[in-house]
Amino acid sequence: MALLELKHISKSFAHSKGTLQVLENINFNIEEGEFVALVGPSGCGKSTLLRIINGIVPMTSGQVLYKGRQVDGINLECALVFQSFALLPWLTVKANVELGLEARGVPLPEREKRAGIYIDKVGLDGFEEAYPRELSGGMKQRVGFARALAIEPKVLMMDEPFSALDALTAITLREELLDIWQSPDMSVHNLIIVTHLIEEAVELADRIIVMASGPGRVVGDLKVDLPRPRDRRSEAFNHWSDKVFSLIEERG
Ligand code: ADP
Ligand code: MG
Repeated sequence: MALLELKHISKSFAHSKGTLQVLENINFNIEEGEFVALVGPSGCGKSTLLRIINGIVPMTSGQVLYKGRQVDGINLECALVFQSFALLPWLTVKANVELGLEARGVPLPEREKRAGIYIDKVGLDGFEEAYPRELSGGMKQRVGFARALAIEPKVLMMDEPFSALDALTAITLREELLDIWQSPDMSVHNLIIVTHLIEEAVELADRIIVMASGPGRVVGDLKVDLPRPRDRRSEAFNHWSDKVFSLIEERG
């Protein structure tokens, strides 16, 4: 059985001038353990689709099945990491990491324990009492990762998590993300990343789902069977990037 099944998902938003159809008839499955990248131009509905899968945004029609069942509201086995980090500036690192646990009703002693564990795992040991303004962009996103991981999700979803970071910080954090995913003592089995960067998708994912806009739809679905670690300078890597580029050119 697939972990996630997306069936005939459509989404429109009401606007002053009528309705805007953002997603049209999206159908695909995600298998247990897969690392999936959703790639497409800005505005094609990637963020909306990710939020529909997570259950934060309701779809207009269609179904999302998780382990064969329809989830009512937010899927508690999924956690989301945001491009903008989404930290509360008046809370410490520790309190920001505890937020997601608090929302899920985890009692205080367990919240504190898990916050400590995951702050360590993302390399922020010693910064528990710091405030977001004292942190670099990369450190802020590490807090974003710790907050998502503290929930101990099966599925980690990320919406352009490296786009607000400088290039060198992004390289480090991508490597750390792969370590997290491959680490046997982490709860995360599946990763879904939204990105508009083709090389980022080829570097990270097992599978790339290519979207196009007007309205948002899937135009390609590729399995990337490049061994890891992947070298962006290798010929094989360029071959895969070209493949995705031409798919977007042909069908986008
Ligand atoms: P992407 O992440 O691919 O850039 P989005 O999912 O953010 O695309 O947005 C797709 C389209 O849906 C855009 O045209 C955007 O303006 C519109 N949209 C997204 N969220 C809302 C909303 N809450 N209300 C109205 N329109 C929205
Ligand atoms: Mg987006």
